[in-house]
Amino acid sequence: MRRPRFFVIALVAGAVALGATETAGSAPIAPAKPAAAQLAAADTALVTLQVSNRAEAETLIAAGTDLPVRELAGGAYQLDLVLTGARLATLTSRGARLIRVIQREGDGTARYAESARAAQARAGTGLSSAKTGFSTAQVSAAADTLHFLQGYWWTSKGQVFLSAQVATTATEDPDVQITVTWRTADGRTGSFGLQRYVDADEYQHHFVFFPQPVPAKPVSLTATSSLGGSAQLTPRAWLGAQPPPTPAGYQQDFITQYMTPTDVKARIQRLARQYPSLVDVINLPHKTQGYRRAASGYLGDPADAAIVVETRKFGDQGGNGVRVRTVKPAGPNHPLTARYAQRVLTVTLATGKGRAVTSTTGEVAAYIRDRFGTTFRAFVENGSAGKLMPVAGPVVLSDGLKAGADVPRAPWTVQALRIGAHRDGSRIGVLAYSQEHAREWATPLVTMEFAERLLANYATDADTRALLNQVDVFVVPVTNPDGANYSFHDFNMQRKNLRNYCQGAQRDPVHRNDWGVDVNRNYAVGSLFDGYFGASLDCLNEVSSGPAELSEPESRNVIALAKAHPNIKYAMNVHSYGGAFMWPPGAYKLDGRVTLPRPSIEESAHFLSAARQIVTSISAYRGTVTWPAFTGPLADVLYSAAGNSADQLYYERGIFAWDFEIGSFLWNPASQEWEGVGFQPPYAEAHAEAMEYASGLVQLVRVAAEYQKTHPIR
Ligand SMILES: [Zn+2]
Repeated sequence: MRRPRFFVIALVAGAVALGATETAGSAPIAPAKPAAAQLAAADTALVTLQVSNRAEAETLIAAGTDLPVRELAGGAYQLDLVLTGARLATLTSRGARLIRVIQREGDGTARYAESARAAQARAGTGLSSAKTGFSTAQVSAAADTLHFLQGYWWTSKGQVFLSAQVATTATEDPDVQITVTWRTADGRTGSFGLQRYVDADEYQHHFVFFPQPVPAKPVSLTATSSLGGSAQLTPRAWLGAQPPPTPAGYQQDFITQYMTPTDVKARIQRLARQYPSLVDVINLPHKTQGYRRAASGYLGDPADAAIVVETRKFGDQGGNGVRVRTVKPAGPNHPLTARYAQRVLTVTLATGKGRAVTSTTGEVAAYIRDRFGTTFRAFVENGSAGKLMPVAGPVVLSDGLKAGADVPRAPWTVQALRIGAHRDGSRIGVLAYSQEHAREWATPLVTMEFAERLLANYATDADTRALLNQVDVFVVPVTNPDGANYSFHDFNMQRKNLRNYCQGAQRDPVHRNDWGVDVNRNYAVGSLFDGYFGASLDCLNEVSSGPAELSEPESRNVIALAKAHPNIKYAMNVHSYGGAFMWPPGAYKLDGRVTLPRPSIEESAHFLSAARQIVTSISAYRGTVTWPAFTGPLADVLYSAAGNSADQLYYERGIFAWDFEIGSFLWNPASQEWEGVGFQPPYAEAHAEAMEYASGLVQLVRVAAEYQKTHPIR
């Protein structure tokens, strides 16, 4: 690509650099301390890293991250990414700083086990999307004009926070500094600096990444620019009125532990048995590949000279256990030969005069491909080219998958729960789907808690009964089951599915955790293939698009469900983590930052007002507030994501399609820092995320019921 994808979001440390005036209760954010914990070379972890310049950040972003990058004062950047200790060492030797280890690779198993133990123990006891209003005309050295795009305050766990966005007419001036000063009703005051936000080389606005703690509700904001411009605003409350509290006897908290695809499938069957008059189980039409992989192995020593031999069949189809070896013939001048019998591939190496082996790694790999190409793939290990092939083996080829036989290897049928009193297409439909990304373990907990809450309360809660009489609810808890199985059993940082489109040396088993297609980059609207930005043709990239639009059964299933049920008018795609609430457009073309078409004024207003209602109901559980700056069109809030599913559902089917990023940053009052939660937080955090976002989904059903009053389905 000509220019790396890049998005810069300002960080609160600007407050320190710009000399914030300090007042009671409004401590500045302390600079992050280096994490004491280090990472062994071969270990993998999710970390927060700080790099000193934009070029370093761009290099890391190009490798694929789906989390926001935070620009610090002075040109440094913080970002969260998955890497090995070896890569971390390289990066730190080049000046990067490890801020904290959020989660280690092995944590997955431990965290699943921890949640299961806890479950057993319990059982034993019984926005502003309108960025259009300001002129992009060049302004000369004279004073610029400022205006506020946003100014919101809210209270979370007793702490008041403030967030602001300001646009300057000096759009091309990289040095303009904007400071926001707030004042409370009792006269307390303070200020903080904003950071300039440039995306795809276009100035967007100035804003503050992390919400600012303030001592009380601010009653006025003043923005001032280093060029002399100023603007004033009375900040608005971000949260709306809380929905009525759930009545006594309202049933919730059905989630007891992290759930594998097998766990979810069993829960779906149980709910169908328990609530037959309210539930249909829909088997989606496109079976996945299954939790399976070709069997492969190194013939030779990859540290010295080796080739990789791989069966064309999956391990479970007979590839596992096949043996491969090279032998040296008894005499001189022997040609290269091979035979495959009784599941053993024996390659007899060529010799010259005097019995010395003359076959190279390249010759042996090519010979296996030529003679046994329908049974085996073979290629030279990266670094072994041109070397003599050693006498080696037999090596036993294996798919390397670690799950026991209780995890089926066969193609998987993805299931949807259909919930409602009238499941005949006559009521407005709401779709909630989760775990497109395998490692986002808390997301199926959200959708399962949501489903069971509706079902359990239908008989006893009047509000729930009214909703299920009016709305047709569809829930797909596990959209990417193969990747999910791999994440639970093999490599907990797995994001993509298990389809391997790599060729040649990219199929080296050393890359086995990098294969797969990003299901949320494989859709057909605003795709990489249409020229949109934010996906990759590289089969090893974290945002790999796959070889073509809709090449993957996982994406075709979501479309098939929406197509078969045209009454679906709302959809929520549940991801983690970071705390965001987003809607179309979700992609742009890089040149000129041309987004997919913006929704109409009316639709944009509905997206935002419904989002604020849902954000408010999420906050009721423990005070989690999705930030105003993270509530808006995906392309503006996070980045361009070519070929994502929300764009597909909105532009193709006219569905109000949102994305949740659950797992908001948590405010640490002791350190006065916001901290990321990770993909697989300790179960208590995942449980809280499930509880609060399930409430958000219930509110989405209320939004749909309300919309239906003025927009009937039939
Ligand atoms: Zn995701």
